[in-house]
Amino acid sequence: MVWYGALMIDPADDGEQRADWTDTFTSLDPAAPALTVGELSTQRGDGIFESIGVVDAHPQEVTAHLERLAHSARLCELPAPNLDQWRAAIEAAAAHCGPGEAVIKLILSRGVEHGPAPTAWVTAAAASDFHRARTEGVRAVTLDRGYAIDVPARAPWLLLGAKTLSYAVNMAALREAKRRGADDAIFLSSDGYVLEAPTASLIVRRGDTFLTPAPNGGILHGTTQLSLFEHLSERGFVVGYDTIPAAALADVDAAWLVSSIRLAAPLTAIDDTSLPTDAEFTASLNAYLLSPRD
Ligand code: PLP
Repeated sequence: MVWYGALMIDPADDGEQRADWTDTFTSLDPAAPALTVGELSTQRGDGIFESIGVVDAHPQEVTAHLERLAHSARLCELPAPNLDQWRAAIEAAAAHCGPGEAVIKLILSRGVEHGPAPTAWVTAAAASDFHRARTEGVRAVTLDRGYAIDVPARAPWLLLGAKTLSYAVNMAALREAKRRGADDAIFLSSDGYVLEAPTASLIVRRGDTFLTPAPNGGILHGTTQLSLFEHLSERGFVVGYDTIPAAALADVDAAWLVSSIRLAAPLTAIDDTSLPTDAEFTASLNAYLLSPRD
């Protein structure tokens, strides 16, 4: 891992206004210990995060990531983040990033039990090389997520739709996908609807229409999917949200897993069904995603 830097944030109340937030940040050595042993993020995964793609020191889609951070905080009943302060922390972290692709992570933890405040920090590091996934594509298997599509509305305490730090299930699904000879997974609800991948959103194409599972089904609303839908509709395509039955996956003209750091990875197969890919079209999507986006 090539680290560019890390900052601890002294979280301000939502609504506090300042022209300069610098004195609320403490620079950290990313290789040195920084959290106390009582941290609830490490003990319980009790916190939220965002991963922001950075291209040539420009952080992409900052507003969309900050809005999702605030949404996750609401769902988890964490203090509302002061988005001006977080934006300033992202700018400070981006200033340390080198050329090429990088990732800035925002982490907001419930803090230490009975502690005074949440713990908040930002890291910046070089991104992995995803050229192969973007050009050669990925194979995915469908995996049961174990809950029905209406569960998020019935059981909000499951925090579905919040980007929580508890990614152990997502990582286990990726290991299972690899055991089955695939590169990635697509979660299905227990009643047979398409959800998302463990670290990406799914977009499918039918003719000139691009669809993604509706975000009310307990999935994250992906910032990359949102940005690509804007781009695709500017190019004259139809885009939309839908409740997609698993059986419909065998019947698509193309599909992609899209996320902030890997960007658009074309799916070459879902389970035993091979999918057509269009290298030139996917390259145009990734060229857009690599261009500066706010
Ligand atoms: N769904 C899940 C579960 C994710 O973890 C991610 C990204 O990490 C996404 C979707 C895609 O979100 P974004 O495009 O904002 O990176």
